[in-house]
Amino acid sequence: MAEPKQRTNNSKQGMRRMHDKVIAPALAYCEKCHEPKEMHKVCYNCGTYNGKQVIEKKQ
Ligand SMILES: [Zn+2]
Repeated sequence: MAEPKQRTNNSKQGMRRMHDKVIAPALAYCEKCHEPKEMHKVCYNCGTYNGKQVIEKKQ
């Protein structure tokens, strides 16, 4: 199997790993129930998206 000719220095290792970070999802508040929800996603609390009922919630 091919082996690396040179050891990756700390700077290059950091450059590669800077894209591995986990970023928090963008949060918005539901127009109907004002619960926090992820942007561009259906509200998990009331099942609406953009003011329209998309998912029927079981009571
Ligand atoms: Zn909602």
